[in-house]
Amino acid sequence: MRDKFQIAALLREIGRLLTVKGDNPFKAQAYERGARALENLDGDLDALVKASRLTEIAGIGTALASIIEEIYRTGECWMLQQLRDELPPGAVELSEVSGLSLKKIIALHDALGIESIQDLKTACQKGLVENVKGFGQKSEAKLLKDIEKLEAHEERILLHRAMEEAERILQHLRAAPKLLKADIAGSLRRRKETVRTIRIVAASEAPKALLDQFLRLPALVHTSELGESCCVANLASGLGVQLNVVSPADYISALHALTGSSKHIIKLKELGRAKNMVFGDSLHGWRSTPRIKSEADIYQRLGLQYIAPEMREDQGEIEAAAAGMLPNPIMLEDIRGMTHCHTIYSDGQNNIEEMALAAEEMGMKYITITDHSQSAYYARGVGIDRLRAQWDEIARVQERVKIRLLRGTESDILEDGLLDYPDHILERLDIIIASIHARHKMGSDQMTERLQRALKLPFFKVWGHPLGRLLQSRPPFDCRMEEVLDAVAVSKAAIEVNGDPHRLDLEPRWIRAARARGVRFIISTDAHSIRGLANLHYGVSMARRGWLTQNEVLNALDPEDFMKAVHP
Ligand SMILES: [Zn+2]
Ligand SMILES: [Zn+2]
Repeated sequence: MRDKFQIAALLREIGRLLTVKGDNPFKAQAYERGARALENLDGDLDALVKASRLTEIAGIGTALASIIEEIYRTGECWMLQQLRDELPPGAVELSEVSGLSLKKIIALHDALGIESIQDLKTACQKGLVENVKGFGQKSEAKLLKDIEKLEAHEERILLHRAMEEAERILQHLRAAPKLLKADIAGSLRRRKETVRTIRIVAASEAPKALLDQFLRLPALVHTSELGESCCVANLASGLGVQLNVVSPADYISALHALTGSSKHIIKLKELGRAKNMVFGDSLHGWRSTPRIKSEADIYQRLGLQYIAPEMREDQGEIEAAAAGMLPNPIMLEDIRGMTHCHTIYSDGQNNIEEMALAAEEMGMKYITITDHSQSAYYARGVGIDRLRAQWDEIARVQERVKIRLLRGTESDILEDGLLDYPDHILERLDIIIASIHARHKMGSDQMTERLQRALKLPFFKVWGHPLGRLLQSRPPFDCRMEEVLDAVAVSKAAIEVNGDPHRLDLEPRWIRAARARGVRFIISTDAHSIRGLANLHYGVSMARRGWLTQNEVLNALDPEDFMKAVHP
Protein backbone atom coordinates (compact mmCIF):
# COMPACT_ATOMS: atom_id res chain seq x y z
CA MET A 1 0.00 0.00 0.00
CA ARG A 2 1.83 3.06 -1.24
CA ASP A 3 -0.70 5.76 -0.55
CA LYS A 4 0.22 7.90 2.45
CA PHE A 5 -3.41 8.76 3.15
CA GLN A 6 -4.47 5.14 3.29
CA ILE A 7 -1.57 4.29 5.57
CA ALA A 8 -2.46 7.25 7.79
CA ALA A 9 -6.05 6.02 8.04
CA LEU A 10 -4.85 2.67 9.37
CA LEU A 11 -2.53 4.33 11.90
CA ARG A 12 -5.48 6.34 13.12
CA GLU A 13 -7.60 3.24 13.55
CA ILE A 14 -4.83 1.65 15.64
CA GLY A 15 -4.77 4.74 17.86
CA ARG A 16 -8.51 4.64 18.43
CA LEU A 17 -8.58 0.93 19.21
CA LEU A 18 -5.68 1.32 21.65
CA THR A 19 -7.63 4.03 23.47
CA VAL A 20 -10.67 1.78 23.82
CA LYS A 21 -8.45 -1.01 25.02
CA GLY A 22 -7.30 1.27 27.80
CA ASP A 23 -3.69 1.22 26.69
CA ASN A 24 -1.22 3.95 27.63
CA PRO A 25 -2.83 7.16 26.23
CA PHE A 26 0.54 8.48 25.01
CA LYS A 27 0.90 5.44 22.79
CA ALA A 28 -2.51 6.04 21.22
CA GLN A 29 -1.68 9.72 20.66
CA ALA A 30 1.59 8.76 18.98
CA TYR A 31 -0.38 6.95 16.26
CA GLU A 32 -2.62 9.95 15.72
CA ARG A 33 0.43 12.21 15.49
CA GLY A 34 2.14 9.84 13.09
CA ALA A 35 -0.95 9.76 10.87
CA ARG A 36 -0.97 13.53 10.65
CA ALA A 37 2.76 13.66 9.91
CA LEU A 38 2.31 11.23 7.03
CA GLU A 39 -0.59 13.18 5.56
CA ASN A 40 1.40 16.38 5.60
CA LEU A 41 4.47 14.76 4.12
CA ASP A 42 5.78 16.68 1.13
CA GLY A 43 8.66 14.36 0.28
CA ASP A 44 8.68 11.10 -1.65
CA LEU A 45 7.33 8.29 0.56
CA ASP A 46 8.78 5.55 -1.68
CA ALA A 47 12.29 6.96 -1.41
CA LEU A 48 12.07 7.34 2.37
CA VAL A 49 10.88 3.74 2.87
CA LYS A 50 13.53 2.30 0.53
CA ALA A 51 16.30 4.15 2.31
CA SER A 52 14.83 3.32 5.77
CA ARG A 53 14.70 7.02 6.55
CA LEU A 54 11.11 7.32 7.83
CA THR A 55 12.33 8.34 11.27
CA GLU A 56 13.55 11.59 9.74
CA ILE A 57 9.93 12.72 9.61
CA ALA A 58 9.07 14.70 12.73
CA GLY A 59 6.58 12.68 14.81
CA ILE A 60 7.64 9.25 13.56
CA GLY A 61 9.85 7.12 15.83
CA THR A 62 11.37 3.70 15.21
CA ALA A 63 8.33 1.69 16.36
CA LEU A 64 5.95 3.67 14.16
CA ALA A 65 8.40 3.57 11.24
CA SER A 66 8.46 -0.21 11.24
CA ILE A 67 4.66 -0.39 11.27
CA ILE A 68 4.47 2.06 8.36
CA GLU A 69 7.00 -0.03 6.47
CA GLU A 70 4.99 -3.16 7.14
CA ILE A 71 1.80 -1.56 5.81
CA TYR A 72 3.70 -0.12 2.85
CA ARG A 73 5.12 -3.52 1.86
CA THR A 74 2.21 -5.85 2.69
CA GLY A 75 -0.87 -3.63 2.81
CA GLU A 76 -1.57 -5.10 6.22
CA CYS A 77 -0.45 -4.75 9.80
CA TRP A 78 -0.38 -7.52 12.39
CA MET A 79 -0.97 -5.13 15.23
CA LEU A 80 -4.14 -3.75 13.70
CA GLN A 81 -5.37 -7.25 12.88
CA GLN A 82 -4.79 -8.28 16.44
CA LEU A 83 -6.65 -5.29 17.83
CA ARG A 84 -9.56 -5.81 15.47
CA ASP A 85 -9.78 -9.47 16.54
CA GLU A 86 -9.51 -8.59 20.20
CA LEU A 87 -12.24 -5.95 20.25
CA PRO A 88 -15.87 -6.46 19.29
CA PRO A 89 -17.28 -4.39 16.40
CA GLY A 90 -18.64 -1.04 17.54
CA ALA A 91 -16.32 -0.93 20.56
CA VAL A 92 -15.07 2.56 19.68
CA GLU A 93 -18.60 3.97 19.52
CA LEU A 94 -19.80 2.15 22.65
CA SER A 95 -16.85 3.41 24.66
CA GLU A 96 -18.49 6.85 24.49
CA VAL A 97 -21.13 5.69 26.99
CA SER A 98 -19.86 6.54 30.43
CA GLY A 99 -19.17 3.57 32.67
CA LEU A 100 -18.86 1.09 29.80
CA SER A 101 -15.50 -0.59 30.21
CA LEU A 102 -14.12 -2.81 27.49
CA LYS A 103 -14.96 -5.85 29.63
CA LYS A 104 -18.58 -4.79 29.73
CA ILE A 105 -18.64 -4.04 25.99
CA ILE A 106 -17.39 -7.56 25.32
CA ALA A 107 -19.94 -9.09 27.69
CA LEU A 108 -22.75 -7.19 25.94
CA HIS A 109 -21.50 -8.24 22.54
CA ASP A 110 -21.21 -11.91 23.50
CA ALA A 111 -24.60 -12.07 25.20
CA LEU A 112 -26.74 -9.86 22.98
CA GLY A 113 -24.70 -9.10 19.86
CA ILE A 114 -24.64 -5.39 20.69
CA GLU A 115 -22.49 -3.43 18.19
CA SER A 116 -23.72 0.16 18.53
CA ILE A 117 -25.20 2.65 20.97
CA GLN A 118 -28.54 2.23 19.21
CA ASP A 119 -28.40 -1.56 19.76
CA LEU A 120 -27.64 -0.98 23.41
CA LYS A 121 -30.49 1.49 23.84
CA THR A 122 -33.00 -0.92 22.30
CA ALA A 123 -31.73 -3.78 24.46
CA CYS A 124 -32.02 -1.65 27.61
CA GLN A 125 -35.54 -0.61 26.68
CA LYS A 126 -36.51 -4.24 26.19
CA GLY A 127 -35.02 -5.10 29.56
CA LEU A 128 -32.51 -7.55 28.06
CA VAL A 129 -29.38 -6.03 29.58
CA GLU A 130 -30.24 -6.69 33.22
CA ASN A 131 -29.90 -10.43 32.60
CA VAL A 132 -26.35 -10.17 31.22
CA LYS A 133 -23.66 -11.27 33.65
CA GLY A 134 -22.16 -8.25 35.41
CA PHE A 135 -25.28 -6.12 34.90
CA GLY A 136 -28.49 -5.73 36.88
CA GLN A 137 -31.69 -3.74 36.92
CA LYS A 138 -29.96 -0.74 38.40
CA SER A 139 -27.07 -0.63 35.94
CA GLU A 140 -29.48 -1.10 33.05
CA ALA A 141 -31.48 1.94 34.13
CA LYS A 142 -28.27 3.91 34.53
CA LEU A 143 -27.04 2.92 31.07
CA LEU A 144 -30.29 4.09 29.53
CA LYS A 145 -30.00 7.39 31.36
CA ASP A 146 -26.40 7.84 30.22
CA ILE A 147 -27.35 7.12 26.61
CA GLU A 148 -30.17 9.65 26.80
CA LYS A 149 -27.78 12.17 28.28
CA LEU A 150 -25.38 11.50 25.43
CA GLU A 151 -28.18 12.01 22.91
CA ALA A 152 -29.53 15.14 24.60
CA HIS A 153 -26.05 16.59 24.35
CA GLU A 154 -26.44 16.62 20.63
CA GLU A 155 -28.00 19.94 19.83
CA ARG A 156 -29.99 19.22 16.74
CA ILE A 157 -31.78 22.00 14.97
CA LEU A 158 -34.36 21.99 12.21
CA LEU A 159 -33.21 21.82 8.60
CA HIS A 160 -34.37 25.29 7.59
CA ARG A 161 -32.66 26.96 10.56
CA ALA A 162 -29.44 25.08 9.83
CA MET A 163 -29.74 26.11 6.21
CA GLU A 164 -30.04 29.77 7.15
CA GLU A 165 -27.01 29.54 9.45
CA ALA A 166 -25.01 27.77 6.75
CA GLU A 167 -25.86 30.40 4.13
CA ARG A 168 -24.69 33.11 6.52
CA ILE A 169 -21.41 31.29 7.13
CA LEU A 170 -20.83 30.80 3.41
CA GLN A 171 -21.47 34.47 2.80
CA HIS A 172 -19.01 35.38 5.54
CA LEU A 173 -16.36 33.05 4.09
CA ARG A 174 -16.84 34.45 0.60
CA ALA A 175 -15.45 37.72 1.90
CA ALA A 176 -12.05 36.02 2.26
CA PRO A 177 -9.85 36.92 -0.72
CA LYS A 178 -8.24 33.49 -0.97
CA LEU A 179 -11.45 31.47 -1.18
CA LEU A 180 -11.96 29.68 -4.48
CA LYS A 181 -15.04 27.57 -3.74
CA ALA A 182 -17.11 26.58 -0.74
CA ASP A 183 -20.12 24.35 -0.30
CA ILE A 184 -22.27 22.69 2.32
CA ALA A 185 -21.56 18.98 2.84
CA GLY A 186 -22.69 16.45 5.45
CA SER A 187 -26.24 15.75 6.58
CA LEU A 188 -27.28 19.27 5.67
CA ARG A 189 -26.43 18.63 2.04
CA ARG A 190 -28.38 15.39 2.31
CA ARG A 191 -31.29 17.51 3.64
CA LYS A 192 -31.90 15.52 6.79
CA GLU A 193 -34.83 16.83 8.86
CA THR A 194 -32.61 17.94 11.73
CA VAL A 195 -28.92 18.79 11.75
CA ARG A 196 -26.30 18.64 14.47
CA THR A 197 -23.23 19.87 12.62
CA ILE A 198 -22.95 22.10 9.59
CA ARG A 199 -20.09 20.79 7.51
CA ILE A 200 -18.49 23.12 5.02
CA VAL A 201 -15.80 22.25 2.53
CA ALA A 202 -13.75 25.04 1.03
CA ALA A 203 -11.05 25.17 -1.62
CA SER A 204 -8.14 27.50 -1.12
CA GLU A 205 -4.38 27.61 -1.56
CA ALA A 206 -4.17 29.63 1.66
CA PRO A 207 -6.03 27.68 4.35
CA LYS A 208 -4.72 29.85 7.17
CA ALA A 209 -6.27 33.02 5.75
CA LEU A 210 -9.57 31.25 5.35
CA LEU A 211 -9.54 29.80 8.86
CA ASP A 212 -8.77 33.28 10.23
CA GLN A 213 -11.78 34.65 8.40
CA PHE A 214 -13.90 31.78 9.75
CA LEU A 215 -12.81 32.52 13.32
CA ARG A 216 -14.03 36.09 12.89
CA LEU A 217 -17.58 34.80 12.38
CA PRO A 218 -19.70 36.72 14.91
CA ALA A 219 -21.97 33.78 15.78
CA LEU A 220 -19.01 31.61 16.80
CA VAL A 221 -18.92 31.05 20.55
CA HIS A 222 -16.58 28.15 21.14
CA THR A 223 -13.76 26.57 19.16
CA SER A 224 -13.05 22.98 20.12
CA GLU A 225 -10.49 22.08 17.47
CA LEU A 226 -8.23 24.14 15.28
CA GLY A 227 -5.72 22.63 12.90
CA GLU A 228 -3.89 23.84 9.81
CA SER A 229 -6.80 23.15 7.52
CA CYS A 230 -9.71 22.33 9.78
CA CYS A 231 -11.75 24.00 12.48
CA VAL A 232 -14.52 22.57 14.64
CA ALA A 233 -16.59 25.10 16.55
CA ASN A 234 -20.01 25.86 17.98
CA LEU A 235 -22.45 28.62 17.15
CA ALA A 236 -24.46 30.44 19.78
CA SER A 237 -27.43 28.24 18.86
CA GLY A 238 -25.45 25.21 20.03
CA LEU A 239 -25.12 23.99 16.46
CA GLY A 240 -21.71 22.59 15.55
CA VAL A 241 -19.78 23.82 12.53
CA GLN A 242 -16.88 22.06 10.89
CA LEU A 243 -14.86 23.77 8.21
CA ASN A 244 -12.41 21.79 6.12
CA VAL A 245 -10.11 23.61 3.74
CA VAL A 246 -8.56 21.56 0.95
CA SER A 247 -6.52 22.31 -2.12
CA PRO A 248 -8.53 23.11 -5.26
CA ALA A 249 -7.43 19.80 -6.78
CA ASP A 250 -8.94 17.86 -3.86
CA TYR A 251 -12.16 19.84 -3.70
CA ILE A 252 -14.65 17.56 -5.49
CA SER A 253 -13.29 14.49 -3.81
CA ALA A 254 -13.44 16.04 -0.33
CA LEU A 255 -16.95 17.37 -0.89
CA HIS A 256 -18.04 13.89 -1.89
CA ALA A 257 -16.30 12.18 1.03
CA LEU A 258 -17.89 14.58 3.51
CA THR A 259 -21.40 14.40 2.07
CA GLY A 260 -22.52 10.76 2.03
CA SER A 261 -23.49 8.98 5.24
CA SER A 262 -20.60 7.01 6.68
CA LYS A 263 -22.28 3.76 5.66
CA HIS A 264 -22.66 4.99 2.09
CA ILE A 265 -18.99 5.96 1.90
CA ILE A 266 -17.79 2.69 3.44
CA LYS A 267 -19.67 0.71 0.80
CA LEU A 268 -18.23 2.84 -1.99
CA LYS A 269 -14.72 2.31 -0.58
CA GLU A 270 -15.27 -1.44 -0.78
CA LEU A 271 -16.44 -1.14 -4.37
CA GLY A 272 -13.48 1.11 -5.12
CA ARG A 273 -11.00 -1.57 -4.17
CA ALA A 274 -12.08 -3.73 -7.08
CA LYS A 275 -12.02 -0.78 -9.47
CA ASN A 276 -8.58 0.55 -8.61
CA MET A 277 -10.10 3.59 -6.95
CA VAL A 278 -8.06 4.73 -3.98
CA PHE A 279 -9.78 6.32 -1.01
CA GLY A 280 -7.36 8.22 1.22
CA ASP A 281 -9.01 9.53 4.37
CA SER A 282 -12.42 10.82 5.23
CA LEU A 283 -11.39 14.44 4.85
CA HIS A 284 -9.85 14.22 1.40
CA GLY A 285 -11.63 11.24 -0.11
CA TRP A 286 -10.67 9.73 -3.42
CA ARG A 287 -7.06 10.01 -4.52
CA SER A 288 -7.30 8.33 -7.89
CA THR A 289 -5.58 9.24 -11.07
CA PRO A 290 -6.54 10.71 -13.41
CA ARG A 291 -7.98 13.45 -11.20
CA ILE A 292 -11.65 13.28 -10.38
CA LYS A 293 -13.59 15.82 -12.40
CA SER A 294 -17.02 15.68 -10.78
CA GLU A 295 -19.10 13.65 -8.36
CA ALA A 296 -20.77 12.02 -11.35
CA ASP A 297 -17.28 10.99 -12.46
CA ILE A 298 -16.74 9.19 -9.12
CA TYR A 299 -19.90 7.11 -9.50
CA GLN A 300 -19.16 6.41 -13.13
CA ARG A 301 -15.69 5.08 -12.31
CA LEU A 302 -17.25 2.90 -9.62
CA GLY A 303 -19.55 1.42 -12.24
CA LEU A 304 -22.64 3.05 -10.74
CA GLN A 305 -25.40 5.35 -11.86
CA TYR A 306 -25.06 8.84 -10.41
CA ILE A 307 -26.47 9.01 -6.87
CA ALA A 308 -27.86 12.41 -5.81
CA PRO A 309 -26.69 13.77 -2.42
CA GLU A 310 -30.14 13.33 -0.82
CA MET A 311 -29.99 9.60 -1.62
CA ARG A 312 -26.54 8.85 -0.18
CA GLU A 313 -27.66 6.97 2.93
CA ASP A 314 -26.93 3.31 2.21
CA GLN A 315 -30.59 2.47 2.05
CA GLY A 316 -30.34 0.36 -1.06
CA GLU A 317 -29.30 3.16 -3.43
CA ILE A 318 -25.86 1.67 -4.18
CA GLU A 319 -27.31 -1.73 -5.08
CA ALA A 320 -29.98 -0.05 -7.21
CA ALA A 321 -27.37 2.13 -8.93
CA ALA A 322 -25.22 -0.93 -9.66
CA ALA A 323 -28.19 -2.64 -11.27
CA GLY A 324 -29.08 0.48 -13.27
CA MET A 325 -32.39 0.65 -11.40
CA LEU A 326 -31.91 3.84 -9.39
CA PRO A 327 -34.70 6.31 -10.18
CA ASN A 328 -33.85 9.78 -11.39
CA PRO A 329 -35.28 11.98 -8.61
CA ILE A 330 -37.62 14.87 -9.23
CA MET A 331 -36.22 18.41 -9.31
CA LEU A 332 -37.60 21.71 -8.09
CA GLU A 333 -37.97 22.90 -11.70
CA ASP A 334 -40.33 20.01 -12.42
CA ILE A 335 -43.02 21.36 -10.12
CA ARG A 336 -45.76 23.21 -12.00
CA GLY A 337 -48.42 23.72 -9.34
CA MET A 338 -48.48 25.03 -5.81
CA THR A 339 -50.70 22.74 -3.77
CA HIS A 340 -52.11 22.93 -0.25
CA CYS A 341 -52.24 26.69 0.40
CA HIS A 342 -54.10 28.56 3.13
CA THR A 343 -55.47 32.09 2.98
CA ILE A 344 -57.11 34.53 5.38
CA TYR A 345 -60.33 32.50 4.94
CA SER A 346 -58.87 30.18 7.59
CA ASP A 347 -55.56 30.62 9.42
CA GLY A 348 -53.45 32.02 6.58
CA GLN A 349 -51.95 35.51 6.51
CA ASN A 350 -52.48 36.53 2.88
CA ASN A 351 -55.56 36.79 0.68
CA ILE A 352 -56.28 34.67 -2.38
CA GLU A 353 -54.94 37.19 -4.87
CA GLU A 354 -51.69 37.73 -2.97
CA MET A 355 -51.05 34.00 -2.75
CA ALA A 356 -51.90 33.54 -6.43
CA LEU A 357 -49.59 36.30 -7.61
CA ALA A 358 -46.73 35.07 -5.44
CA ALA A 359 -47.08 31.54 -6.85
CA GLU A 360 -47.27 32.96 -10.37
CA GLU A 361 -44.06 34.85 -9.77
CA MET A 362 -42.40 31.58 -8.78
CA GLY A 363 -43.30 30.25 -12.22
CA MET A 364 -46.25 28.12 -11.13
CA LYS A 365 -49.04 27.34 -13.58
CA TYR A 366 -51.69 26.66 -10.93
CA ILE A 367 -52.38 27.00 -7.23
CA THR A 368 -54.87 25.13 -5.08
CA ILE A 369 -56.66 27.15 -2.40
CA THR A 370 -57.24 24.68 0.40
CA ASP A 371 -58.35 26.31 3.61
CA HIS A 372 -59.35 24.36 6.70
CA SER A 373 -62.80 22.80 6.85
CA GLN A 374 -65.57 23.66 9.30
CA SER A 375 -64.57 21.33 12.17
CA ALA A 376 -61.17 22.98 12.48
CA TYR A 377 -62.53 25.75 14.74
CA TYR A 378 -59.00 26.33 16.18
CA ALA A 379 -57.86 27.29 12.66
CA ARG A 380 -60.99 29.31 11.82
CA GLY A 381 -62.28 26.49 9.61
CA VAL A 382 -64.50 27.56 6.72
CA GLY A 383 -68.24 26.84 7.01
CA ILE A 384 -70.32 26.03 3.91
CA ASP A 385 -71.59 29.59 3.37
CA ARG A 386 -68.14 31.10 3.54
CA LEU A 387 -66.82 28.34 1.30
CA ARG A 388 -69.34 29.44 -1.36
CA ALA A 389 -68.21 33.04 -0.87
CA GLN A 390 -64.62 31.89 -1.36
CA TRP A 391 -65.55 30.26 -4.68
CA ASP A 392 -66.96 33.60 -5.84
CA GLU A 393 -63.79 35.38 -4.83
CA ILE A 394 -61.65 32.76 -6.58
CA ALA A 395 -63.68 33.40 -9.76
CA ARG A 396 -63.14 37.16 -9.44
CA VAL A 397 -59.40 36.83 -8.82
CA GLN A 398 -59.09 34.37 -11.72
CA GLU A 399 -60.06 37.18 -14.09
CA ARG A 400 -57.12 39.25 -12.93
CA VAL A 401 -54.30 36.66 -12.85
CA LYS A 402 -52.70 34.29 -15.34
CA ILE A 403 -52.07 31.43 -12.92
CA ARG A 404 -54.93 28.91 -12.73
CA LEU A 405 -56.80 28.93 -9.41
CA LEU A 406 -58.26 25.65 -8.17
CA ARG A 407 -60.82 25.49 -5.43
CA GLY A 408 -60.20 22.98 -2.73
CA THR A 409 -60.29 22.22 0.93
CA GLU A 410 -58.07 20.77 3.58
CA SER A 411 -60.79 18.70 5.13
CA ASP A 412 -60.45 17.21 8.56
CA ILE A 413 -60.52 13.44 8.74
CA LEU A 414 -63.00 13.07 11.58
CA GLU A 415 -62.68 10.60 14.39
CA ASP A 416 -64.77 8.01 12.53
CA GLY A 417 -62.71 8.34 9.32
CA LEU A 418 -65.29 10.43 7.45
CA LEU A 419 -64.65 13.87 5.97
CA ASP A 420 -66.02 17.15 7.15
CA TYR A 421 -68.24 18.50 4.34
CA PRO A 422 -71.28 16.74 2.87
CA ASP A 423 -70.89 15.00 -0.50
CA HIS A 424 -72.76 17.68 -2.49
CA ILE A 425 -70.07 20.18 -1.42
CA LEU A 426 -67.10 17.83 -1.85
CA GLU A 427 -68.10 17.01 -5.42
CA ARG A 428 -68.00 20.69 -6.41
CA LEU A 429 -64.33 21.08 -5.42
CA ASP A 430 -61.32 20.69 -7.70
CA ILE A 431 -59.18 19.04 -5.04
CA ILE A 432 -59.64 17.59 -1.55
CA ILE A 433 -56.77 17.31 0.88
CA ALA A 434 -57.75 15.09 3.80
CA SER A 435 -55.77 15.52 6.99
CA ILE A 436 -55.96 14.65 10.66
CA HIS A 437 -55.86 17.64 12.99
CA ALA A 438 -57.47 16.28 16.14
CA ARG A 439 -57.43 13.09 18.20
CA HIS A 440 -53.77 12.34 17.37
CA LYS A 441 -53.27 9.96 20.20
CA MET A 442 -55.61 7.11 19.24
CA GLY A 443 -54.42 3.58 19.75
CA SER A 444 -52.81 1.89 16.76
CA ASP A 445 -55.85 -0.29 15.87
CA GLN A 446 -58.28 2.58 15.96
CA MET A 447 -55.98 4.93 14.02
CA THR A 448 -55.30 2.30 11.35
CA GLU A 449 -59.05 1.83 10.89
CA ARG A 450 -59.72 5.58 10.85
CA LEU A 451 -57.13 6.18 8.14
CA GLN A 452 -58.14 3.19 6.04
CA ARG A 453 -61.77 4.28 6.13
CA ALA A 454 -60.94 7.84 5.08
CA LEU A 455 -58.60 6.78 2.29
CA LYS A 456 -61.08 4.27 0.89
CA LEU A 457 -63.88 6.84 0.51
CA PRO A 458 -65.15 6.55 -3.08
CA PHE A 459 -63.72 9.84 -4.41
CA PHE A 460 -60.21 11.10 -5.00
CA LYS A 461 -58.40 12.77 -2.10
CA VAL A 462 -54.85 13.61 -1.11
CA TRP A 463 -53.73 12.38 2.29
CA GLY A 464 -52.31 15.56 3.86
CA HIS A 465 -49.29 15.58 6.20
CA PRO A 466 -49.82 11.83 6.56
CA LEU A 467 -48.43 10.88 9.94
CA GLY A 468 -49.00 14.23 11.61
CA ARG A 469 -45.57 14.56 13.10
CA LEU A 470 -44.17 17.89 14.25
CA LEU A 471 -40.39 17.65 14.35
CA GLN A 472 -38.98 17.71 17.86
CA SER A 473 -42.44 18.12 19.41
CA ARG A 474 -44.95 15.53 18.23
CA PRO A 475 -44.17 11.97 17.13
CA PRO A 476 -45.90 10.40 14.11
CA PHE A 477 -49.31 8.72 14.65
CA ASP A 478 -49.32 5.24 15.95
CA CYS A 479 -50.79 3.10 13.18
CA ARG A 480 -49.96 0.00 11.15
CA MET A 481 -48.45 1.94 8.28
CA GLU A 482 -47.92 -0.98 5.90
CA GLU A 483 -51.65 -1.78 6.06
CA VAL A 484 -52.60 1.86 5.58
CA LEU A 485 -50.33 2.08 2.53
CA ASP A 486 -51.95 -1.06 1.15
CA ALA A 487 -55.28 0.75 1.48
CA VAL A 488 -53.94 3.84 -0.33
CA ALA A 489 -52.70 1.65 -3.19
CA VAL A 490 -56.18 0.30 -3.93
CA SER A 491 -58.04 3.56 -3.26
CA LYS A 492 -58.66 6.80 -5.10
CA ALA A 493 -55.95 8.59 -3.21
CA ALA A 494 -52.54 10.20 -3.40
CA ILE A 495 -50.12 11.06 -0.61
CA GLU A 496 -48.77 14.48 0.21
CA VAL A 497 -45.10 15.15 0.86
CA ASN A 498 -45.40 18.18 3.11
CA GLY A 499 -42.58 20.73 2.78
CA ASP A 500 -43.32 22.70 5.94
CA PRO A 501 -39.92 22.47 7.69
CA HIS A 502 -41.66 21.72 10.98
CA ARG A 503 -43.40 18.72 9.45
CA LEU A 504 -41.47 17.24 6.50
CA ASP A 505 -44.02 14.49 6.45
CA LEU A 506 -43.94 11.71 5.03
CA GLU A 507 -40.60 10.24 6.03
CA PRO A 508 -38.44 8.94 3.16
CA ARG A 509 -38.67 5.28 4.16
CA TRP A 510 -42.47 5.45 3.94
CA ILE A 511 -42.33 7.37 0.67
CA ARG A 512 -40.28 4.51 -0.74
CA ALA A 513 -42.67 1.93 0.70
CA ALA A 514 -45.60 3.79 -0.90
CA ARG A 515 -43.98 4.23 -4.31
CA ALA A 516 -43.19 0.51 -4.33
CA ARG A 517 -46.98 0.07 -4.24
CA GLY A 518 -47.46 2.38 -7.23
CA VAL A 519 -48.92 5.24 -5.18
CA ARG A 520 -48.90 8.81 -6.58
CA PHE A 521 -47.89 11.94 -4.64
CA ILE A 522 -48.18 15.68 -4.46
CA ILE A 523 -45.38 17.86 -3.10
CA SER A 524 -46.74 20.78 -1.13
CA THR A 525 -45.71 23.64 1.10
CA ASP A 526 -48.80 23.83 3.36
CA ALA A 527 -48.15 27.57 3.08
CA HIS A 528 -49.97 29.87 5.45
CA SER A 529 -48.40 32.97 3.90
CA ILE A 530 -46.53 34.11 0.81
CA ARG A 531 -43.30 33.42 2.62
CA GLY A 532 -44.39 29.83 3.24
CA LEU A 533 -44.47 29.21 -0.52
CA ALA A 534 -40.68 29.42 -0.52
CA ASN A 535 -40.57 26.12 1.40
CA LEU A 536 -41.37 24.21 -1.76
CA HIS A 537 -37.74 23.14 -2.13
CA TYR A 538 -37.86 21.38 1.25
CA GLY A 539 -40.78 19.31 0.03
CA VAL A 540 -38.84 18.47 -3.12
CA SER A 541 -35.80 17.47 -1.02
CA MET A 542 -37.96 15.09 1.02
CA ALA A 543 -39.33 13.61 -2.18
CA ARG A 544 -35.81 13.13 -3.53
CA ARG A 545 -34.81 11.42 -0.29
CA GLY A 546 -37.78 9.12 -0.92
CA TRP A 547 -36.56 8.50 -4.53
CA LEU A 548 -39.65 10.03 -6.15
CA THR A 549 -39.49 10.70 -9.87
CA GLN A 550 -41.27 13.38 -11.84
CA ASN A 551 -43.79 10.80 -13.14
CA GLU A 552 -44.89 9.95 -9.63
CA VAL A 553 -45.68 13.50 -8.62
CA LEU A 554 -49.06 14.84 -9.69
CA ASN A 555 -48.24 18.53 -9.36
CA ALA A 556 -45.48 18.08 -11.89
CA LEU A 557 -48.32 17.75 -14.41
CA ASP A 558 -49.74 20.55 -16.54
CA PRO A 559 -52.92 22.20 -15.18
CA GLU A 560 -55.38 20.18 -17.31
CA ASP A 561 -53.81 16.82 -16.49
CA PHE A 562 -53.45 17.71 -12.83
CA MET A 563 -57.12 18.66 -12.58
CA LYS A 564 -58.13 15.38 -14.20
CA ALA A 565 -55.84 13.40 -11.89
CA VAL A 566 -57.05 14.90 -8.61
CA HIS A 567 -60.70 15.58 -9.40
CA PRO A 568 -62.79 14.23 -6.53
ZN1 LIG B 1 -53.15 20.53 8.06
ZN1 LIG C 1 -52.62 22.85 5.91
